[in-house]
Amino acid sequence: MGWSLLIRNGTVVDGSGAPATAADVAVEGDRIAAVGRGLSGESARTIDATGLMVAPGFIDIHSHSDLVYDGCPSAESKVRQGVTTEVVGMCSFSPAPVAPGRREAVREWAGGIAGHMPIEWETFPEYLEHLRRLGPSVNIVQFVGHGALRLATVGADNRAPTLDEQSAMERLLAEAVEAGAFGFSTGLVYAPSVYASTGELVSLARSMAGQGGIYFSHIRGEAATLEMAVAEAIRIGEDAGVPVQISHVKASGRENWGKMDRVLRSVDAARARGLDVTGDVYPYPAGSTKMDNLLPGWMHDGGISKLLERLGDPAARRRVAQECLVDGERWRTGSGAMGWDEIMIATSSDPELPGMHLAELARRTGKPPVEAMMDLVLAERAGVSMIVFSQSEDNVSTVLGYAHSMIGSDSLSLHAGPGPHPGRPHPRSYGTFPRVLGRYCREKRIFSWETAVQKMTGMAATKLRLDDRGFVRAGFAADLALFDPATVADAATFADPHRHPTGIPYVIVNGRVVVEGARFNAVPAGRVLTSAR
Ligand SMILES: [Zn+2]
Repeated sequence: MGWSLLIRNGTVVDGSGAPATAADVAVEGDRIAAVGRGLSGESARTIDATGLMVAPGFIDIHSHSDLVYDGCPSAESKVRQGVTTEVVGMCSFSPAPVAPGRREAVREWAGGIAGHMPIEWETFPEYLEHLRRLGPSVNIVQFVGHGALRLATVGADNRAPTLDEQSAMERLLAEAVEAGAFGFSTGLVYAPSVYASTGELVSLARSMAGQGGIYFSHIRGEAATLEMAVAEAIRIGEDAGVPVQISHVKASGRENWGKMDRVLRSVDAARARGLDVTGDVYPYPAGSTKMDNLLPGWMHDGGISKLLERLGDPAARRRVAQECLVDGERWRTGSGAMGWDEIMIATSSDPELPGMHLAELARRTGKPPVEAMMDLVLAERAGVSMIVFSQSEDNVSTVLGYAHSMIGSDSLSLHAGPGPHPGRPHPRSYGTFPRVLGRYCREKRIFSWETAVQKMTGMAATKLRLDDRGFVRAGFAADLALFDPATVADAATFADPHRHPTGIPYVIVNGRVVVEGARFNAVPAGRVLTSAR
């Protein structure tokens, strides 16, 4: 026989939602060779999985790790969770394409999220080559960011593209999909993606329909405009004839929490009409993004340098306060109205600040909160990020339990281990998948183990049309996550986020054992996946 790896005595949860079964899994090279009871035969290595569930490696259907792979190709905080594939290029952000002479604009644009990004590429195919050379430990599914397409053509300005610029965006998208991108994403609350009309996005989506492209939507507002914004995403899919994924489904701001059921019914209705529309969710009632996104779109017109200029202009600052301050105390943006004590500084160049709420920053500096916030964004040149506690725990459970939702962390992979860990990033970078398994499946019982695993694996693979991943089946890629259903749990918290989970003793990427107990083997086991069509 001569297998490279034999996993014996485990309970296989195969990713399809089918009942778990006692079975062994044999791996040969990078493929699953056999799944069945009592497999015997020679194997270079055997893992005893008694008491463990053997699942397909998890697919993080919404990740921003492409902004940090250069500093962290091991994607350790993700792989430790059982993640073997990350879907990146989300919310309009992607590192490519980059127009000649516009590298600095792209670097500034991603600043505050991205660490060190060298940007030695221009075209999307060049960027994918760079990714392959990096040798990631995780498989990568890359989307094109609509913001990158706009920066490379229209620039950072708040205006419609000319006909030539629209064609140029479509050419760049076609080139990217041809090279292996799976589609494009928007971030319709982030400049410059926010400046697009629905028509621009329908044209763009339609241009990739023949290539099988998928549209991933960070919609045009998850608060007051939530229902209209979901309707727009659905319309883009229907008019263009492409599948749609609604990213990080949420209702932000307590005045909008009651809208969630209607939103999910509208997705059901679109599915009933035949549209392939699904969504994803992370298991926390708080989100995270760059702090300058608290400022309205017109402040960003022209890019970061213009934003900083306006932040230095008293008239512009007054206008911002007039537009966004509700009753003198809450701050209203596309993400809903929030109290200053619901906005926490996550990362900043000042090590004293992470973990502090803006209400406290205001007290400490003796400034009104709005002034303290704008001064901070200006001082950090927009490089400061935040965590926003604006969602309801009930809605998190509702969306997790929704039949057509998958699991996406909406986070960066971080490198742990020895050394300093600056900031207080959102704990979802370390805890998303084990939190779904431990808290929402084992403790709250909102779904079975089979369904929880399906949302993290088979459902995502089917959406992406990955034809050989996402299921424990002979012939499929040997991406596997072994976890203990009795103990699997997240350890990262908002106060102490840099903590790896427990109860996930083995993670295997393309047949290579990357996680084994406390050990992490940062081998280049991952592949840059390309859309198979
Ligand atoms: Zn987003």
